[in-house]
Amino acid sequence: MIDSPWEYAPAPESREIANLKPSYRMFVDGEFVDGGGEPLKSINPATEELLAEVSSASESDVDIAVRAARRAFERTWSTMPGRERAKYLFRIARLIQERARELAVLESLDNGKPIKESRDADIPTAAAHFFHHAGWADKLGYAGYGPDPRPLGVAGQVIPWNFPLLMLAWKIAPALACGNTVVLKPAETTPLTALVFAEICQQAGLPPGVVNILPGAGDIGAALVAHPGVDKVAFTGSTEVGKQIQRSVAGSGKKLTLELGGKAANIVFDDAPLDQAVEGIVNGIFFNQGHVCCAGSRLLVQESIADELLEKLRIRVRTLRVGDPLDKNTDVGAINSAEQLSKITELAASGDAEGAERWTSPCPLPEKGFFFSPTVFSGVHQSMRIAREEIFGPVLSMLTFRTPAEAIAKANNTPYGLSAGIWTEKGSRILWAAQQLRAGVVWANTFNRFDPTAPFGGYQESGFGREGGRAGLEAYLDV
Ligand code: NAP
Ligand code: MG
Repeated sequence: MIDSPWEYAPAPESREIANLKPSYRMFVDGEFVDGGGEPLKSINPATEELLAEVSSASESDVDIAVRAARRAFERTWSTMPGRERAKYLFRIARLIQERARELAVLESLDNGKPIKESRDADIPTAAAHFFHHAGWADKLGYAGYGPDPRPLGVAGQVIPWNFPLLMLAWKIAPALACGNTVVLKPAETTPLTALVFAEICQQAGLPPGVVNILPGAGDIGAALVAHPGVDKVAFTGSTEVGKQIQRSVAGSGKKLTLELGGKAANIVFDDAPLDQAVEGIVNGIFFNQGHVCCAGSRLLVQESIADELLEKLRIRVRTLRVGDPLDKNTDVGAINSAEQLSKITELAASGDAEGAERWTSPCPLPEKGFFFSPTVFSGVHQSMRIAREEIFGPVLSMLTFRTPAEAIAKANNTPYGLSAGIWTEKGSRILWAAQQLRAGVVWANTFNRFDPTAPFGGYQESGFGREGGRAGLEAYLDV
């Protein structure tokens, strides 16, 4: 182990770029208005300081927003030719690009993710989703759902805090392309970029009511999905809340898609290029502080290479810089909330109690804010909580296997099924393993690759329905 002979000087991005305002209002029927709910306080998880007050919706605001979305659906959006809808989507995509720096800094302030991730992943991919779906808006007749597929109506959409603007894009772009209108509730702890997106809708001249943004807590999400004026519900979040929503919409005739939790296996066979695999493992679990539903949180390593791989992994993880999300050198930022930090801490403690071996990166942590050092557990068994439950943090659980069949059996031994990774030199083994794995996305010799053309979604308790690509259009069409 060679310790780095030199230190990185701080390289902070300016927070001025975020154009942070002291308060934000909700967006209904094309206007920013005060909501009837208790205002939310959005904080910076890296410093615990207050960023802004955000007015939040009441149940009657949900009703007003759904009615506005219905009017917009009937009077303008559903009757507008697809080629005209496309122009708005292209405009929105271009405006996201023009305001990319502002959005990236604001996202890092509100969420805690490193600026290099919001700048290089979240915001460009959000723009890419609008570009991709702009292209579909006038070609829906060629998507394989009949010559003139119809929209559903009003979409009620609820998203989590881990990729605030990107999850918004995954939801709003296909809904609008297909001719639906939208009422979206961002997560309580990360509402800010959704409200700047609302400004972008105004800038793009989007007709009033086509997009409505209602900040609020879980009760507003529940009121939105239960509203009788909603025709389609799209939810991304925890499996627990997903089940509640499924019960709430049962029998209502609403179309439903759920993108829920995961506990992905990242499988390394003995013939894998180890240095490359280490990069993929690190990206798989430490990207976005591990707050990724498809994170490669279970590392399955062939026994014969386990010691060597673990050693290489520890050397690599030691070099990850944890700290100020606005520093361009930061690899791992802040945990999004005190609540999430205590959940991670509690699950990691269960790993100790159940006999796994914990290794923690010796990196220094900032004194303020919510931070958790990158952690690798080895000697993990299938029965342990850290092998079964989603930690949603920078914690990797390493298990071993002897034969390919055992790897597949262990990988599939989970109630989830969102993603998986395979590391091997052999193409035939990649194809064989990908066929056996019960996961919506299987990456081979890479991990956490996202593209709007590729459908994303789960099996089992990871949910149902697909987002992205041609398959993702189905969720927003009456087919
Ligand atoms: P969560 O508690 O399920 O929250 C998700 C969203 O639902 C938030 O906007 C939340 O509002 C809202 N909500 C809470 N209770 C609700 C209810 N009863 N009815 C309707 N909406 C309600 O999830 P989270 O803890 O924020 O996010 C982490 C989880 O999301 C993880 O399990 C992760 O795997 C999953 N996730 C999945 C994907 C995917 O694509 N499959 C992507 C990202 C995250 P509040 O913010 O006020 O709580
Ligand atoms: Mg915040």
